[in-house]
Amino acid sequence: MLTAKAVIVCLWFAALFIAERLARAATPPQSPARLVRNAGLWFIVLMLSPLIVAPLTAWGVNHVFWTRPEWMTAGAAGVVILAVDLILLDLWTYWLHRAYHRVPLMWRLHEVHHRDEFLDTTSAVRFHVGEVVLSAALRLIPIAVLSLPLATVIVFETVLICAALFHHSNLRLGKKFEAALSKVIVTPSIHWVHHHAVQRDTDSNYTSILRVWDFVFGSRSPTQRRYDMKIGVEGVEDKPLLRLFLMPFGRH
Ligand SMILES: [Zn+2]
Repeated sequence: MLTAKAVIVCLWFAALFIAERLARAATPPQSPARLVRNAGLWFIVLMLSPLIVAPLTAWGVNHVFWTRPEWMTAGAAGVVILAVDLILLDLWTYWLHRAYHRVPLMWRLHEVHHRDEFLDTTSAVRFHVGEVVLSAALRLIPIAVLSLPLATVIVFETVLICAALFHHSNLRLGKKFEAALSKVIVTPSIHWVHHHAVQRDTDSNYTSILRVWDFVFGSRSPTQRRYDMKIGVEGVEDKPLLRLFLMPFGRH
């Protein structure tokens, strides 16, 4: 299943990476420097996170993940239960994202993602390895509370990464199509506002997959996307790769 997840994510990434160059929404920066930074942070995650996440998952399989009775995983009941589990994990991810913005020590990690000064598919893989590991560790809480099987978590992670690649992408969508889609899921225009370098907007539009959470918990921004909005973190600039990597550990 992990191989299927990797194949789906890689194909979706490649498709969006090409599509956003054929039909781009905003004009990207000319300099390749940010692409190098984003690729560098992704490379660090690919190199370091398996060292921590793999043992964490193995530990989870033995101590946290549950094996459910067959009636809960087969037929119509299995589909309904899977859908409910995915919705609850999305709700968890919404609040985790809010926590990354609200808890100063968590923001130190998440800020590395927000320092990006443009958005495209590479922004979706630009995370500090510390955030990737912390998110994986904290996800053990809903897994234990909801008694989730490993397969459900792999399905959720596949959907979550594909959703993140989509809503960070610089893909130009038809206005009516995106307006209809944005009533259900997060679209690039909605997430663009989350990356607006104005604190009020940065602390809004937290949801990752289902749009409903921002409405339910009052975090929807009324700001409409404009392509000339400054993207990043209010009052500060992006940094070179090494300084981004060290940023959570030092003084700002
Ligand atoms: Zn954020």
